[in-house]
Amino acid sequence: MSEPTAPGRGGDELLARLLGPGTPELTCEECFEVLDAYVELAIAAEPADERVPGMRAHLEGCPACTEEYHSLRALLAPEEGGGPR
Ligand SMILES: [Zn+2]
Repeated sequence: MSEPTAPGRGGDELLARLLGPGTPELTCEECFEVLDAYVELAIAAEPADERVPGMRAHLEGCPACTEEYHSLRALLAPEEGGGPR
């Protein structure tokens, strides 16, 4: 009797890996899935970062998604700082 089994172990480890060590950060794929909703929230002055946690962290580290975010925002709200006329 030297190998006590620990039932229920393993799930926590998987969850920790999914959530990451610190703040949650989206992958580009997840980012694109929620990007339009995130932009709509931002335009509506909703707390977009609260509703879509991890998005800002991803945008800060991913120029490609940041560009996509700006072009989508310019598309959805052209009058709102979309550019000089
Ligand atoms: Zn990205």
